Amino acid sequence: MATPDGPDSNPGFDTSQPTIARVYDALLGGKDNFAADREGAALYLKYVPDAGRCAIENREALVKGVHYLVREAGIDQFLDIGSGLPTQKNTHEAAQEINPNARVAYVDNDPIVLAHGRALLATNNSTIVVTADLREPQGILNNEEIKTHLDFSRPMALMIVGIHMHFHDDEKPDEWVRTIMDRLAPGSYLFITDFVDTGEPLQKGMERAGLESLGNGWIRTPERIEQHFLGMPLVPPGLDFLARWFPEDPDGDVPATEDLEPYQRILMAGLAKKA
Ligand code: SAM
Repeated sequence: MATPDGPDSNPGFDTSQPTIARVYDALLGGKDNFAADREGAALYLKYVPDAGRCAIENREALVKGVHYLVREAGIDQFLDIGSGLPTQKNTHEAAQEINPNARVAYVDNDPIVLAHGRALLATNNSTIVVTADLREPQGILNNEEIKTHLDFSRPMALMIVGIHMHFHDDEKPDEWVRTIMDRLAPGSYLFITDFVDTGEPLQKGMERAGLESLGNGWIRTPERIEQHFLGMPLVPPGLDFLARWFPEDPDGDVPATEDLEPYQRILMAGLAKKA
């Protein structure tokens, strides 16, 4: 992989426009981004100065959810769609530090994820990376690599973490997710984080930054986010702000919502179980 923007940079992607994966990488302090992505990240920081901390809390929530799924729910297979560029602790690392045999299929529609993921996973036989699109769920379900890697007759976790906001409701993203959930075995889980709209200015700022930089990044009411779970019951503590969401210790002490920093009231997480 060429160095972003380096003199010999020839990554084989269009680097003139920002992409979701690369802007997110820039916000997380990664190096797999280009000038247009850094400009996109700068727009986020203009409207939400703590946007980088939002991204970090989202990654922390991903790890909390995966740890719960492996340790408490006994899940050992993950279909992680919209997985993003490899960063500090990825789904396979969070899962395999508890169960070394856990298997992960990463899916993303940005080809840079495949390029970087393949290099990272060259020595990890339990993890694959596939380029595919959530908008075409049948393509994911029929993908030979995924079908070989994951056992669809046993429960798995479908991770749709930090990606719903990039789809407008008119696209009916819940129907794509439903198509996949319908094919998963009973006892499977659906893990989601999304941008929330409870009427706060900074939430609106996040939406504005996304629309100006990427052309997407909508916020939704908690009631609308709950619909993402397709009527399945949520694991305690239910849908909540990331800093209050501890599925492994749902009755533990958590900060009151009003004590959270405004940037901590932008993303919510939830986990649902298929009966
Ligand atoms: N899941 C990771 C996390 O929460 O840290 C990454 C989230 S990142 C904000 C969203 C990811 O979704 C990006 O890597 C982007 O390329 C991917 N994505 C966006 N639209 C997609 C689609 N239609 N199909 C698959 N992946 C998509």
